Amino acid sequence: MSAEKTKTQRLRELKNYLVFLKDQGYRDIPLEKNIDKLNFDSEIINSQSDTLSLTPESAITSQNLSMELNAILKELGDCKRCKLCEGRTNIVFGSGNPNADLVFVGEGPGADEDEQGLPFVGKAGKKLTEIIEKGMGMNRERDTYICNIIKCRPPGNRNPEKDEISACKPFMQKQIHCIKPKVIVALGRPSASTLLGRPVTITKERGNWFNYEGVPLMLTYHPAYLLRAYTLENRRAVFEDMQKVLKVLGK
Ligand code: SF4
Repeated sequence: MSAEKTKTQRLRELKNYLVFLKDQGYRDIPLEKNIDKLNFDSEIINSQSDTLSLTPESAITSQNLSMELNAILKELGDCKRCKLCEGRTNIVFGSGNPNADLVFVGEGPGADEDEQGLPFVGKAGKKLTEIIEKGMGMNRERDTYICNIIKCRPPGNRNPEKDEISACKPFMQKQIHCIKPKVIVALGRPSASTLLGRPVTITKERGNWFNYEGVPLMLTYHPAYLLRAYTLENRRAVFEDMQKVLKVLGK
């Protein structure tokens, strides 16, 4: 591995960690006075200051809750509980407001997510952001938390296997216990089937309310499916599902 690649990898890891801290609600990190001697070319580091600004616009999070999520992340560690660890670049833990009323649960990371260590950042992620922000009038980072049932990318984006879901599911469950949302939305069949503990036919069961450990659970299409089958009917279906969610959230 070249020195340049090592530096790139380190910067990527640093960026991922800073984004994680931002998601957990940290606004500033006190720095040593001589930090400005470091020659980072990063827009998020202000070398004129002795603090590192992460989210000046955000004053949202319960630090205790953030610490609980952080504890789950620490427990996950450099996870090797299933074979998906072999091909991953990054574990994709989750992102958003740890205090959110609304949690979206997807299936698993794709290539972009694996690369960046963040959920729903590829094409399907953009579609999900559009659904949240244009369709629901909410802010993705401020009003929702997003995670997946598995935290490492399956090879070739295949569906996660039973043993992989069993190994990873407890961490998604812990995230939900910690966040205590008012509503959960399962995106697509694997997520819906995992949360309900039975095979789900998403085309038949979407748009209906279920229950996940006392929390109202709405099933809808995965945004990647929506992009593949971009019909008026499917778009309307997701829009209507999200209107039901907004109603339960009192919005
Ligand atoms: S998918 Fe989950 S259980 Fe499997 S290695 Fe990744 S983090 Fe661990």
